[in-house]
Amino acid sequence: MSTVRSRMWIVIALIILIGSIGFVFLRISLDSLVTQEPDMILYNAKVITMESSPAQAEAIAIHNDSIIAVGSDSEILAMQGANTTLIDMGGKTILPGFIDSHTHDFGDRALTSIDNMNEVVNHLLESGWTSVSELFVDQDRLDELRALDQENALRVHVNAYLPLSWQFDRFGDWYKAYQPGQEFSSKLRIGGVKLFMDGSYVRPIHYFNFSELKSLVQEAHDLGFQVAIHSVLDNSTDVVLDVYESVLNAESNSIFRHRIEHLIYLRDDQIDRIRNLEILPSFQLTWFTSDWKQAGSFPLLEQNSNLVARWRDVVESGAPAIGSSDYPWNQLDIRSVPKILSMAVTRIGINNLTPTDWMLNQKLTIEQALRLLTIDAAYGTFQEDIKGSITVGKLADLVVLSKNPVSIPANELVNLDVLMTMVEGVIEYESPDATFLYANGESYHCEKNILSYSESSFNVIDEEILNCISARKIVV
Ligand SMILES: [Zn+2]
Repeated sequence: MSTVRSRMWIVIALIILIGSIGFVFLRISLDSLVTQEPDMILYNAKVITMESSPAQAEAIAIHNDSIIAVGSDSEILAMQGANTTLIDMGGKTILPGFIDSHTHDFGDRALTSIDNMNEVVNHLLESGWTSVSELFVDQDRLDELRALDQENALRVHVNAYLPLSWQFDRFGDWYKAYQPGQEFSSKLRIGGVKLFMDGSYVRPIHYFNFSELKSLVQEAHDLGFQVAIHSVLDNSTDVVLDVYESVLNAESNSIFRHRIEHLIYLRDDQIDRIRNLEILPSFQLTWFTSDWKQAGSFPLLEQNSNLVARWRDVVESGAPAIGSSDYPWNQLDIRSVPKILSMAVTRIGINNLTPTDWMLNQKLTIEQALRLLTIDAAYGTFQEDIKGSITVGKLADLVVLSKNPVSIPANELVNLDVLMTMVEGVIEYESPDATFLYANGESYHCEKNILSYSESSFNVIDEEILNCISARKIVV
């Protein structure tokens, strides 16, 4: 065979080879385009994104567990594919799923009338929460959460904070069996560790001195754990700030995100120090509303009212504040997000009394309150890249409210309803008023457990559920 002919064959072989490689690449790029077809488009909505641009939108495209586009109805509807479910939201308001930065929904459910873990999950979903940080997850509670998660029944995100102490008890090294930020699944994660510096405003007692607290915090810090310390009184908070300042050793707390819980009494110099050290102040929007006045049992609060519950001063200082409920402590009847927003903005409690001046001086704007329970709360668990706002690439954790909390008068916030809650692209809760989910616009109320895509859901088939499924826009 001549050299010319063999070279020709080599060239032909190369052309075929390059062509096949090209074809494979073409297939891959087409597939990735195909997989970007939205599973679901929510349109004709008021979307409050909690981003600066766009701050508001009309429609959201969702694929698998994530948001793939946010924009106007015409922009997003143009993405519709053969398998896209369209849901006309009828002008309802969509917000990022709410994040409670400090709760005990699972751990202290004995204080409530809810006695099983599945009911806790449903209670959170119907209240508008898609993520919670549980601030006292000991080994038993962690085992319980992991078992629920393994059954695919943990339908909200949980960040678990492992206690190192309780009052004068010290729990030793048990937490070192876990890694900081360890993820058991997309739903369950180790958030950090928890310590108690003091009691409460009715029980002023210190559980640590500086060196005892420092040694435990230093150890957890060196292992990479985020630390949350309960501190109510101003003189306790002095110790906590001394410890954090020493442990941080001039490094930025944006790397470690150590937090202080409650901060019920705060002096001006402490607010400055918290801001300068970039410590995360973690406070409860449901506390120190007009209901506390009725209680009348805390004269210490009234005498020091200029120092108490300085939520607005803290937020306006520029400190990286995070908001929460500490449910079920102190406010057993309040779980729904709109009611908590109402308390933050009006300082009026559920007994509808008139707040005192010192309470009113610290009321938040609705924008401040929303941030504390969404994007700022996501920062509190290092999850601001996947949660807390409605933007491309974040998880489709969404809540639909009956009206726009930003545009209604503050005194109407308390009447807002949670119509739907979505976690990772799955509608996990709908209210009987979520008529936009049904083809004929009639009201249905599907049993909550059929809305989850877990296999066990489909074992329960009765006529009501079949009717519900057949009426839905979304095929489950
Ligand atoms: Zn707590």
